[in-house]
Amino acid sequence: MRIVLLPVGKVNRKALNAVRDGLTIVFPRAVCELSEGVLGVPRNSYNASRRQYSSTRILLEILHYAEKKETPADQTARFLGVTEVDLYVRGLNFVFGEAQCPGKAAVISLHRLRPEFYGAPGNEKLYFERALKEAVHELGHTFGLRHCPDPACVMHFSLHIGMTDRKQSDFCRICRIKLERAV
Ligand SMILES: [Zn+2]
Ligand SMILES: [Zn+2]
Repeated sequence: MRIVLLPVGKVNRKALNAVRDGLTIVFPRAVCELSEGVLGVPRNSYNASRRQYSSTRILLEILHYAEKKETPADQTARFLGVTEVDLYVRGLNFVFGEAQCPGKAAVISLHRLRPEFYGAPGNEKLYFERALKEAVHELGHTFGLRHCPDPACVMHFSLHIGMTDRKQSDFCRICRIKLERAV
């Protein structure tokens, strides 16, 4: 199985590499790679009054990209869009990411993961850890996993960054079993 990281707009290269390296540990049987192409941030995803981007519209574009790039032998690949723009879905102030559940497309935003966003000093290690957690979480959804009640499990829902920091970047025992059945 392949996991393809697809930059959506201009994205910090070092963060992309850090997420890819982390994913190879959490998904040891997957081949994790950066896509050759970059997806432009879809114009129709921007909401001027919110100054945010619709994650659902971006997700659709990732899916189109995936369908064009996939070979018949490659139907199980997952495409994880990574963007620096701030994402929202209707009814929520923001989202860290969104995914098909199950499906082949997911997206995460790095926008709210930098400590500087919260007025804290820069911390690259923390920033990359958060990015990995959000990436694993959304990919978990693509394998059909739903939110987990265990606050330490990566599939626990993060309402704010404190909840992301509280969880680990890996699946709890029960979610890991569900994942193994799905892949
Ligand atoms: Zn979720
Ligand atoms: Zn769990």
